[in-house]
Amino acid sequence: MTPIRKIVIVGGGTAGWMTAAGLAAVLKGLPIDIQLVESAEIGTVGVGEATVPHIRDYNARLGLDEADFMRKTQATYKLGIEFRDWGRKGEAYVHPFGAFGQPIAGIPFHQHWLRARARGEAAPIQAYSLPIMAGLAGKFAPPSSDPRSLGSTFSYAYQFDAGLYALYLRAYSEARGVVRTEGKIATVAQRPDDGFVTGVTLESGHTIEGDLFVDCSGFRGLLIEQTLQAGYDDWTQWLPCDRAAAVPCDSVEPATPLTRATSDAAGWRWRIPLQHRVGNGYVYCSSYISDDEAARVLVEKLDGKPQQDPRFLRFVTGRRKRQWLKNVVAIGLSSGFLEPLESTSIHLIQVAISTLLELFPHQGCEQADQDEYNRVMDLEFERIRDFLVLHYHANQREDSAFWNDRRAAPIPDSLARKIALFRERGVVAAYKDGFFKEPSWLSVYLGQNVLPDGFDPLVEAIDPAQSARLLAELKAAVARTVETMPEHETFLRSVADARAPA
Ligand SMILES: Cc1cc2nc3c(=O)[nH]c(=O)nc-3n(C[C@H](O)[C@H](O)[C@H](O)COP(=O)(O)OP(=O)(O)OC[C@H]3O[C@@H](n4cnc5c(N)ncnc54)[C@H](O)[C@@H]3O)c2cc1C
Repeated sequence: MTPIRKIVIVGGGTAGWMTAAGLAAVLKGLPIDIQLVESAEIGTVGVGEATVPHIRDYNARLGLDEADFMRKTQATYKLGIEFRDWGRKGEAYVHPFGAFGQPIAGIPFHQHWLRARARGEAAPIQAYSLPIMAGLAGKFAPPSSDPRSLGSTFSYAYQFDAGLYALYLRAYSEARGVVRTEGKIATVAQRPDDGFVTGVTLESGHTIEGDLFVDCSGFRGLLIEQTLQAGYDDWTQWLPCDRAAAVPCDSVEPATPLTRATSDAAGWRWRIPLQHRVGNGYVYCSSYISDDEAARVLVEKLDGKPQQDPRFLRFVTGRRKRQWLKNVVAIGLSSGFLEPLESTSIHLIQVAISTLLELFPHQGCEQADQDEYNRVMDLEFERIRDFLVLHYHANQREDSAFWNDRRAAPIPDSLARKIALFRERGVVAAYKDGFFKEPSWLSVYLGQNVLPDGFDPLVEAIDPAQSARLLAELKAAVARTVETMPEHETFLRSVADARAPA
């Protein structure tokens, strides 16, 4: 078995530079060259500002200093996503990065809450969540490391300028030996006997050869699709939004530690507050609204002055049939696309990098490695897909054809099973692989009025007065803790204005 000696990364967007930095950090002791090719003429997709907490593991693995990263990427903190108008119009809920309470006598907290609710003794579930109440109050402090403390019951992510993040990672990667080549790839060479990619040739005539190729070329999938024709599972029957208009605007208020997703007549709008601006976009379905109308609505609903004209992006929701094929691994938009409703694309890039490292191959790229990689990534995509579809399916807006159609549209069987389980007595289907766990599903079910008919019968083993008391204590503790937390903007300034390390 011949070891890999040369890796070529095609593309220098968020996926390309995250891959370069991740590989450079982990493979540093090995005699492996890493090259990255990118084309300024083609450019990058240029959006992607909201993340999930796992980004902190990625940054930590690279050894990045958090304050330095925050300054260089104009980042803000994020405690969750606020969803407006997704159940009935006028309603809102937050999907937090944290649990709703702790289990009582081994039974999930929400089961006790469901019983208390049935008895008319419960406050809205959000009152029991520290990250929700802190986020809505515009407060932020990092979690406590003391597991007994309420302050340890949440996590956080970032909202950042993805272009600056890619630049930051580029500097990191180049300092660790990654060689960057600017230029447009014109042709791709393959080995005649097995179709493995052997090299890419730029328009300048310069050829870059490699043993392993990571396709980070964006939606076009230059290697995985245009060369190897891996195929694409089209999921538009479940997630029909196919376009987005994006525009940054001036900040007119302190940055909130929450991303916002507001449903609109033909899709939904994102609002992502950064230090230097607010990122905005309208993800929509082109069968229900024109580009011009989507851009008009987007601009009309901005908080502040737009900083440029809206940009339009087109996409097909779905997943590459094989994300690793022969000696090409597709990472980022080349591997598939799920709309940014739950800020999952950068997370999928990260999962792809760590899975590739776990299965790091020899030059032969054994079939067993490819199969395992594809199994893991398929599951990640499917589980996120189901979670996204739930948001659309469980809407109660009756004021637009788009939303009426989403309620009526068929859903994946895997999601139908999960909803049926929850509707019966509030059981959230558990799984080992895949990102969204119980608190995430719970927040969307309850936030969009998918209410169970009953609750876990084992709850009755606990005296209702006792669980009502514990619920009340938790609610009071959450309120008290929020009181003591600093304003997000104040905390952010203390980090952003602190002197950069020498
Ligand atoms: C509307 C929208 C909103 C999004 N919001 C979020 C979000 O909030 N959170 C999140 O996590 N993700 C979000 N994403 C996803 C996120 O933007 C992408 O996952 C991320 O930017 C990765 O893109 P990429 O690097 O795969 O592709 P790209 O940014 O398209 O980069 C492709 C690279 O390949 C290079 N390239 C292509 N062809 C050639 C060639 N022939 N020769 C040389 N170089 C070539 C290009 O120059 C470029 O460097 C969003 C995506 C969209 C579409």
